Amino acid sequence: MSIAVHQLNKRFGQFTALNNVSLDFPDGELTALLGPSGCGKTTLLRIIAGLEFADSGQVLLDGQDASQQHVRDRQVGFVFQHYALFKHMTIFENIAFGLRVKPKHIRPSEAQIKEKVTSLLELVQLDWLADRYPPQLSGGQRQRIALARALAVEPRVLLLDEPFGALDAKVRKELRRWLRRLHDELHVTSIFVTHDQEEALEVADQIVLMNHGTVEQVGAPADIYQHPATPFVYGFLGNVNLFHGRVHEGVLDAGGVTFAAPAHSDIRDATGTGYVRPHEFDIDRYSPGAEGLLVQLRRAHSIGPLAQLELERDDNGDLLEAIIPSERYQQLKLKVGEVLVLRPRRLHVFVDTH
Ligand code: ATP
Repeated sequence: MSIAVHQLNKRFGQFTALNNVSLDFPDGELTALLGPSGCGKTTLLRIIAGLEFADSGQVLLDGQDASQQHVRDRQVGFVFQHYALFKHMTIFENIAFGLRVKPKHIRPSEAQIKEKVTSLLELVQLDWLADRYPPQLSGGQRQRIALARALAVEPRVLLLDEPFGALDAKVRKELRRWLRRLHDELHVTSIFVTHDQEEALEVADQIVLMNHGTVEQVGAPADIYQHPATPFVYGFLGNVNLFHGRVHEGVLDAGGVTFAAPAHSDIRDATGTGYVRPHEFDIDRYSPGAEGLLVQLRRAHSIGPLAQLELERDDNGDLLEAIIPSERYQQLKLKVGEVLVLRPRRLHVFVDTH
């Protein structure tokens, strides 16, 4: 089922939680709602679910206006951060629950329920846990059961609110890959809320990046990562080095160094900032006449295939972070205190708007 929201507004008292939000969630895709705490992700999810109502605007399910529809008529499945499993019921009964409470005329038979629950337990690869109770499961297992329970009623949409938020880093990583594989199998239109950019970039077909109740950018992960539309998006997707300066006819003058900024060739004079990600630098030992920014190596450590360098600009003392392949790091035989030459391979310049 496709989902769209159109010009949604939601206030809590004086506070604007959603400000004119319009979005499309294509049929069968997995969308991540990404953004800092308090930006409105959960509010948007709850409005799509029918657990909350917008002050104005529409929710369209398969093109039909569902804004006033009750949650039970929207056929959505939920998974929340804190496992909402019933402690006193077995895992089997937890998954069967949604089927057992269906109105009598559409309730499946006992045999059908058994078949359905068994196949869901196989789907989430936990069939050996059927007779246990939730407290006897690990956090990761409970979330997989919560997902199986949400899927039992064959929802047309799956909504997940920080489903792996309470789990430790390693389990989180495993589960997000598992979710991706599961989604590839089922193709249920799914929306999941996260504030973890790595999770969104790895798992989603589409990312919606939100900030202060508005949408900053929508796109495929690679698209958003390669072409951030705003400084906020650039900064939110990982560490970034900033070069503040002045933009003048396609050139950013950032103190001791100038960078080409061809996208801004029509700007006469404005303040602007160059953005460079740590792994987007080329690094060499200093040699007379070498072109680039002179920096001093303050610290370096190599973990696995990558080496992380802390660098200090020679001209103004600003600190920069660079990440280079460990192989290159060893080849260069860098020593702390040594002067190096830095050249960004990619630089994105945003001109300040006032
Ligand atoms: P988080 O990642 O921390 O869960 P979020 O992006 O999901 O944040 P929301 O839960 O949507 O953010 O909340 C958006 C803003 O609206 C927050 O500032 C929150 O305090 C406020 N808010 C949410 N629900 C209510 C409510 N029922 N009453 C008052 N304010 C609310």
